[in-house]
Amino acid sequence: MVSSFGPQKIELAPAKKQSAWVSSLMPSRPAERRTTDAGMAMRATATVRTNSIGSSVRPVASGVPATFIDNPPHDSRIVQEEQFGPVIPLIRYTDLDAVLVSHLHPDHFIDLVPLRHYLRYEFEPPRRVRVLAPRGLADRLDALHAEPGFTAEALDCELLGPARRIGSLSIETGLVAHTDESYAIRVAAEAGPGLVYSGDCGRATDLVPLIRQGDALLVEAAFGPGPVLDGVLHLDGPAIGELAAVTRPGRIFLTHILAGRDPDATIAAVRALWDGPVEFVWPRTQLDL
Ligand SMILES: [Zn+2]
Ligand SMILES: [Zn+2]
Repeated sequence: MVSSFGPQKIELAPAKKQSAWVSSLMPSRPAERRTTDAGMAMRATATVRTNSIGSSVRPVASGVPATFIDNPPHDSRIVQEEQFGPVIPLIRYTDLDAVLVSHLHPDHFIDLVPLRHYLRYEFEPPRRVRVLAPRGLADRLDALHAEPGFTAEALDCELLGPARRIGSLSIETGLVAHTDESYAIRVAAEAGPGLVYSGDCGRATDLVPLIRQGDALLVEAAFGPGPVLDGVLHLDGPAIGELAAVTRPGRIFLTHILAGRDPDATIAAVRALWDGPVEFVWPRTQLDL
């Protein structure tokens, strides 16, 4: 919903420091569950620049009227294209139950640093979040900052391995060939298909025990159409196609492709062995499962 007001009624909020982590979590949050802060506003110039929201913006002497944007749809241009300033804090995540980390390569956990700062400094009292991860996560984050206890000030770390429930969701994991302790993860509600995430995985058959027929499979395709370099523990399109032919997931979502690998050729490589739906997900893709 977008509303326009006279500029004299607007209190402009400054840009917030947490934009990086909010941005990184954006794909995972359904729009209707976001909460917005009525005190947040964005610069009117941004509204005009994106020019896609159909409000009754009209130029005034100083430029354009200031404009509130309340709970914008996730796929709206104002969310996807306007990144320079305070629009990011419009989208708040106050209902994050837990973060699951598949393994301890930095591309899979480094966003916990801005999340920790956000929880620690943007709320009074500070908030905390459960983080389920392989052993050693807190030590790595603490070492990164040369500050013992850095992680524990906002993140409650638990071992990811054992099956459990989080709210209405069941969580199952399976070890996969990648690091010494790398997990694939299945998340599912009571009924209906689950979502199986491969993490980084060097042997597709490691995923077989987790995948139920009809599940959505979010799988790394680091080496695109292939082949995977010798001795490197990642997947490629042919390996994923073979896996799908055996496990019959409902849908396949590809991710984590290395720069220079061709996404279209990767999809073709999967489809050569699998006749179900397969597509890439990119930053800010939102899935309804
Ligand atoms: Zn990795
Ligand atoms: Zn990775």
